[in-house]
Amino acid sequence: MSQYYKPHREYGLFDPKSKQPYKLSRSKLDLFLNCPRCFYLDRRLGVGQPPGFPFSLNSAVDALLKKEFDLHRAAGNPHPLMKEYGVDAVPFGDPRMDEWRDSLRRGIQYLHRPTNFLVAGGVDDVWINPRGELIVVDYKSTSKNGEVNLDADWQIGYKRQMEVYQWLFRQNGFKVSEIGYFVYCNGDADKEAFDAKLEFNIKLIPYRGKTAWIEDALLAAKKSLVSDDLPQAAASCDFCAYRKAVTEVLQAREPEPVVVMTAAKTAVKTPKPKKKAAVQSEALF
Ligand code: SF4
Repeated sequence: MSQYYKPHREYGLFDPKSKQPYKLSRSKLDLFLNCPRCFYLDRRLGVGQPPGFPFSLNSAVDALLKKEFDLHRAAGNPHPLMKEYGVDAVPFGDPRMDEWRDSLRRGIQYLHRPTNFLVAGGVDDVWINPRGELIVVDYKSTSKNGEVNLDADWQIGYKRQMEVYQWLFRQNGFKVSEIGYFVYCNGDADKEAFDAKLEFNIKLIPYRGKTAWIEDALLAAKKSLVSDDLPQAAASCDFCAYRKAVTEVLQAREPEPVVVMTAAKTAVKTPKPKKKAAVQSEALF
């Protein structure tokens, strides 16, 4: 077990008896939509999926974009990318920007009374247009051949992320444009040599958010958390396929029980598994 993973977590659990608001991040709501069982295991029973390794290069790109947009925020003028794509807006100069961007400690929050969930998420950026509408902006980075887009099935998570932020700002009383933008940076791996430099092509992708699903998703997540029943697992999931495969190969290695016949009684003895198998089993589960 690494220092980054605690398999039996005792904090951040949902307690059905508690009257206190329960903080639910937009990423956990996404987990519920991807797999209600994993959500329940994580939020109610304290066993979450192991985290992936941090994407340090993506974080570096985010940090640099933030600095760049902050310069224009302070000056009150549009970033060249906004001009290039004809977006009539400027970075929103609100003193709460750092708070809204702080996904770990605060983010943009809203207490959803029907569920008593304190819904929260850390936004990358917010712009404002001349009509006073906020524009939610998300930075993404990758390195792939061809144009970046939002067409892959797995990018549903990106779209939901944008939509939850739009919803959160509306619930906080802001006018919010239906159109948000992804500032999508694509690292160019098609160079002669690395030369200690990775260059990016940056594309601004508009996305029209639809937030009508959020209310129902929150209610369904609450219904699941208060129940004592373990929900169904997602139909296809690499984690579960892995767990199942490991269980199968370990079970296949268990020695068969030996039936011992004596005059007095018949006993069934299960020999101790080979030491190697036992150790593997402990390490995996
Ligand atoms: S299918 Fe299994 S491992 Fe995958 S997300 Fe659901 S409970 Fe978790």
